[in-house]
Amino acid sequence: MEYGLQPYQLEPVRRDDFEVDDDVIDNVQIREEQEEEWRKYNKEWCECQRCGLMPTAVECLCCHEIGNVVRKMNLGLEDELKCIVEHFEFEFVCLHPGVIRTALVARHDVRRNQLVDPIPNETFRLKAYRQFTYWVHDRLGKAIRRVIPACVVGRIRQEYPSDNGAYVGFKEADLQA
Ligand SMILES: [Zn+2]
Ligand SMILES: [Zn+2]
Repeated sequence: MEYGLQPYQLEPVRRDDFEVDDDVIDNVQIREEQEEEWRKYNKEWCECQRCGLMPTAVECLCCHEIGNVVRKMNLGLEDELKCIVEHFEFEFVCLHPGVIRTALVARHDVRRNQLVDPIPNETFRLKAYRQFTYWVHDRLGKAIRRVIPACVVGRIRQEYPSDNGAYVGFKEADLQA
């Protein structure tokens, strides 16, 4: 994908850079409308080689297709990353149980609920998705912005697998996180 690769490499991210991302969001919406069903059957859309096929076309999204993710991959790093899951911060922010648990505590504290151990993997997983959104976009934003690239979903599921092998899509996850 062209967008995001050239112009912003070594510049600090400015708030108005999100405008670029809105183009991507529009692309996602158009794609959803056109029902690009082919995405569910072959992985030509994946540039990072880490994405798996997902059950819906809109979830079949590579990290290289999201402007803010591409910027994150290029920003201030010596080597260009092939995939956002290789970013050194990804492991801390989106996978580390201490960080995810602390984010859960903060959320429960705001709601004045007590967090009860043991925390199910599903709760960790949904919070990890949310962590990714905050990390990459600096905010929650529109629902469509919360589509998590398939490579990231796969890595988070690997870390916090489902007991019964069942996973909810990002839309359902969104309601629970
Ligand atoms: Zn990919
Ligand atoms: Zn990727």
